[in-house]
Amino acid sequence: MKAPIIAIDGPAGTGKSSTAQGVASALQWSYVDSGAFYRAAALLALRHQVDLEQTTGRVELRERLENACIDQRMVGGKLQTWLDDTDVTGAIRSEAVTRAVSRVAEDPSVRSIVNQDLRRRVGEEPAVVDGRDIGTVVFPEAFLKIYLVASLEERARRRAREAEPGGRELDGALLASYEQGLAERDRRDRERAEAPLVAAPDAVHLDTTNLDLETQIARVVRMARDRMNQAS
Ligand code: C5P
Repeated sequence: MKAPIIAIDGPAGTGKSSTAQGVASALQWSYVDSGAFYRAAALLALRHQVDLEQTTGRVELRERLENACIDQRMVGGKLQTWLDDTDVTGAIRSEAVTRAVSRVAEDPSVRSIVNQDLRRRVGEEPAVVDGRDIGTVVFPEAFLKIYLVASLEERARRRAREAEPGGRELDGALLASYEQGLAERDRRDRERAEAPLVAAPDAVHLDTTNLDLETQIARVVRMARDRMNQAS
């Protein structure tokens, strides 16, 4: 029998990664951040100055990705992402990667390579996986699918707080620039032809605008335990 999977999807900044990590830790399951795979692919494209507007560039990225090894490891309660023998946990969160990643994720060959990696990695052990198409495309058999949403204003505030801890004051112009970046990434993710961001018909929607992280995690853990009890 295949190991159970919880899929957590939704737009950027809705708390998917923190929720998924908290749920995985509460259930003692593994956690897989699929966005980090796309970010590592974007880093690879940037490092090799691959031009994705050209067919030759897309072919080059596919070849580089097929020969690369993207790995995730939980170290001291923190998820690390490795690209070959380099720890790229910090590098994949750079502004340049964040700007480029949705363009990279539009490419069907990139998606197919990442999906193979994800399916190889998940399956043996119970896992919580977060992303954009986990419940719809990658693991449609997931026994619990969560679709997180939150207002654009709140998502921008969260991202700005993460990026500017104790630093710049969160003034209107700064927040507006975060809103613009998130809205643009969501638009690309929703409008792409291949595996667009959309809620699975059987997903449970959870609006996190006014929820703190602990409550988000507790709700998902409760739903997972209820379903596992019903099934047993
Ligand atoms: O989750 P995160 O914001 O790190 O994801 C970065 C980008 O990777 C997303 O904006 C999206 O373009 C892409 N992605 C995707 N499918 C997934 C996970 C992420 O297309 N399952």
